[in-house]
Amino acid sequence: MSASPSNYFTHLECSMTGAELTNDQAHNLSPEGWPLLARYDLEKMKGEIDRDEIAARDAVCYPGFWKWRELLPVKDNAHVTTLGEVDTPLVDTRKTAAKIGLKGALLVKDEGRLPTGSFKARGLGMAVSMARSFGIERMAMPTNGNAGAALSAYGSAAGMETYAFCPDDTPEINVREIAAQGGKVFRVNGLIHQCGAIVGALKEEMGWFDVSTLKEPYRIEGKKTMGIELAFQLGWTLPDAIFYPTGGGTGLIGMWKAFDEMEKLGWIRSERPKMFAVQAEGCAPIVKAWEAGEEHAEECIDAHTFAAGIRVPKAIGDFLILRAVRESGGAAIAVSEDRIEAARTLCAHEDGLLLCPEGAATLAAAQEALDAGQIGKDARVMLFNCGTGLKYPLADTSRWLDRTQPITPELLNI
Ligand SMILES: *Cc1c(COP(=O)(O)O)cnc(C)c1O
Repeated sequence: MSASPSNYFTHLECSMTGAELTNDQAHNLSPEGWPLLARYDLEKMKGEIDRDEIAARDAVCYPGFWKWRELLPVKDNAHVTTLGEVDTPLVDTRKTAAKIGLKGALLVKDEGRLPTGSFKARGLGMAVSMARSFGIERMAMPTNGNAGAALSAYGSAAGMETYAFCPDDTPEINVREIAAQGGKVFRVNGLIHQCGAIVGALKEEMGWFDVSTLKEPYRIEGKKTMGIELAFQLGWTLPDAIFYPTGGGTGLIGMWKAFDEMEKLGWIRSERPKMFAVQAEGCAPIVKAWEAGEEHAEECIDAHTFAAGIRVPKAIGDFLILRAVRESGGAAIAVSEDRIEAARTLCAHEDGLLLCPEGAATLAAAQEALDAGQIGKDARVMLFNCGTGLKYPLADTSRWLDRTQPITPELLNI
């Protein structure tokens, strides 16, 4: 990359009060304690930027989501931290669709193809690049695994020191991956928000910048690129329904924000997909709040699910998730562990696509929404597989063979 592209990022705005903050220094929450949202001069951009021209950018200079630079906060090419991002494919899972009785289309946006094997690369790639522009050298976060992995990878690439605090039952591969990529990682006998409390308590003394979900404004900007990318891939249209595995909700909030920005730019029209926030029955604070008609969610006590990425008992952006779901005419749906496991097997056996448990939860929820008539049989449905299925423990169903004994067809019949 040579000259930096035009930048339209103007200021930050408190998501609750609308109060404005300048963007010339690093921020965490707004002074009132709410997530901050990045705002752009879309009016100006509309007159200057051609959607199709930037969509066609060379993937070497502008890998993956970096092609949308004008809609992103990073100003200077020198701060862009890249690990070779790609546009993630929309996998058309036709046989799975037929099995669940969907005649329309069941498209899986497979985010497992990104660096570090999850869509956390989008958020942390952006947050690390912005932190770099502010001269930050040490960052910390609580994580269920994938965010910490992306932080350590992008942090190391940017020459920063990173600290990750995980619940002690975080998938083994994630914990090791964090360390292997140069991050410092600690297992904690608590859940993610309790890990977050450690970051909060020690950040002054340790000189950390806190990159917890929604406690800084740029992970959302990275995650919103899922919304831009999917519109681009669907010829600047949107699907009828999006099923999103919801932990902190960054991606759902980010995509909703991207749709709004793209409409203002004249890139898409005003139709929106129904947004479905998917959680596991063992940790469904957003679903409870949605059903009760509340604006905020209560902390989930005793949270449990093997879909680690959505085991988030308390989300600071709960009201933003709930607003997007309500405005879209969607719903919040909780699915059981058994349904998640069955959905994972279904998609892998039918279409050869191994979903992560969180991704499988979206398939289970789509099936429930279809059965309940919340989406039509002809709908074009998009699921988010947010991480590679290979990062999670898989059942061993192999049989052992003794080659020194006769091997008969009966033995192979498993
Ligand atoms: C982090 C994560 C989620 C939840 O994403 P949010 O945007 O924080 O709600 C879902 N699935 C996987 C695999 C994750 O790593």
